Amino acid sequence: MKSLFLVLLFLAMNFLSTNAHAQTAPTADEAQDFMNKAEAQLADLSVKVQRASWVQENFITDDTQAMAADAIDEVTAATTQLVEQAKRFDGLALSPDLTRKFMLLKLGLTAPAPKDAALRREMTTIGVSLDGDYGKGKYCRKSGECLDITAIEKIMSTSRNPEELKELWAGWHAIAPPMRKRYSRFVDLSNQGAREIGFKDTGALWRSGYDMKPDEFSADLERLWNQVKPLYLSLHTYVRWKLAEKYGPNVVPPEGPIPAHLLGNPWAQEWGNIYDLLDVREDKGGVGINVTELLKKKNLDPKGMVKYGEGFFTSMGFEKLPPTFWERSLFTKPSDRDVVCHASAWDLDNKDDLRVKMCIQVRGTDFVTIHHELGHNFYQRAYKEQPFMFQNGANDGFHEAIGDAIALAITPEYLHKVGLLESVPQASNDIPELLKQALDRVAFLPFGLMIDQWRWKVFSGEITPADYNKQWWALRLKYQGVAPPVARSEADFDPGAKYHVAANVPYTRYFLAHILEFQFYRALCRESGYKGQLNRCTFYGSKEAGAKFNQMLAMGQSKPWPDALEVLTGERQTDAGALLEYFVPLKTWLDEQNKGKKAGW
Ligand SMILES: [Zn+2]
Repeated sequence: MKSLFLVLLFLAMNFLSTNAHAQTAPTADEAQDFMNKAEAQLADLSVKVQRASWVQENFITDDTQAMAADAIDEVTAATTQLVEQAKRFDGLALSPDLTRKFMLLKLGLTAPAPKDAALRREMTTIGVSLDGDYGKGKYCRKSGECLDITAIEKIMSTSRNPEELKELWAGWHAIAPPMRKRYSRFVDLSNQGAREIGFKDTGALWRSGYDMKPDEFSADLERLWNQVKPLYLSLHTYVRWKLAEKYGPNVVPPEGPIPAHLLGNPWAQEWGNIYDLLDVREDKGGVGINVTELLKKKNLDPKGMVKYGEGFFTSMGFEKLPPTFWERSLFTKPSDRDVVCHASAWDLDNKDDLRVKMCIQVRGTDFVTIHHELGHNFYQRAYKEQPFMFQNGANDGFHEAIGDAIALAITPEYLHKVGLLESVPQASNDIPELLKQALDRVAFLPFGLMIDQWRWKVFSGEITPADYNKQWWALRLKYQGVAPPVARSEADFDPGAKYHVAANVPYTRYFLAHILEFQFYRALCRESGYKGQLNRCTFYGSKEAGAKFNQMLAMGQSKPWPDALEVLTGERQTDAGALLEYFVPLKTWLDEQNKGKKAGW
């Protein structure tokens, strides 16, 4: 569901300058010259790397994998070398832009590698093997039928048999224990790489990408979590109560944590799939809007769905996607070969060669994901005139939030405007819609936060391998209020059963994005002149909102993110206020329903 944006590959280059000034103190002009050459070559190499990766993900064979892995190893080596060479400019008085570029260069690798070539290769090899283990992971039932994660997700989204759900949950988590030793070695090697370029550990390097000190950033996340926690608790209380009614107190303790296998998702990260268990029809008379049915009624194919996504952006004044987008993207799963179906957005040439790769099914969740992916593409194109080092999101949360802010504007009013929905339901029926949104977007928040809370502590050494699993579940209990359905021990490695841990993709970006998307959404609503209940706002067709949006997007990563945020919202702080405002009617409704029920676990 969450899509990867290929940023980690962009810092690729072979910088083989003859260092003529090594003996004398470097000047600001030399630093500028160094960076100019670096950017030119980085841009060049990034295209090659992205082409190799595109081919690999569209035609998975041993050969394309080896070629992509070679490219990644080369990138890691070149970047490591470049950061090393850039050290001689440390402490030199440079322009703010140039200072920023040197900082971004240092932060370019998600997994910084040791300088030692043998250790670097060991780390890269482990990284690829963990990613591969996850990709190949399967659970085989007693009947001999083997299920990959897509099949498991599908069954877990609709099965209401707790024994079957428990079996699948435990079966999927059994893919991870073999990763444990390699993962801990990977952590050590990456930490060594981080220390060699001046960071305390890899987690500190990740936190340095937010234009704040790592500790300030952690405190800021805690502030945001405290803002949204009461809403999460109301949702948790209601869902636990309904699940206890459905499955009985022996399966769901009415005042304890929710067993993690019952929420419609192998990680309990988004709960939208169990909406039908929540009894909303009887209470409110409205059933919400079934987008899947609307799409099917219109006989839309995957390409037609993407056209609607593009249409939202062009209605706001953005230019149409180029013809190559339609020629080169992958919209449907090919029947004759393996592809990586995990949805992603690409920018092959850092200019106009934008693409989406996604195995689209005609259903509501995919309609939302299309908007998410196109948000990456329109962002990429908006900042293409920036220097290479600034061709990125203001921070990684911004990049994830753009398309989701648009997706929030897929309201009944919008669906009616574009002819997908015949009539708009009355405002008194908003609760089903809001509850559906909350089951995905609010339920996700503590999960989005806890992944890196665990990982940062692993990188810092505060969590040791002897406690990997215990601490994982301590955090899942603390933030999410969920518990494992079967006994766990240190023979397990449950973090490895989550893609972003196995593949070493930072996760805090998704927590931030889920807050920023509402902040962007509210600002775009204001800009469009909308006045009314926030959850009913759509800015479809608003050129004013589009112009303001573009102004922020075009900045790329050229300035600290609060500057970019201010351009669109007038605010300089990430703020969950917009999210809370959006869900005010739901919060009121939940608290009425929950009266007399214990909140928390
Ligand atoms: Zn994404």
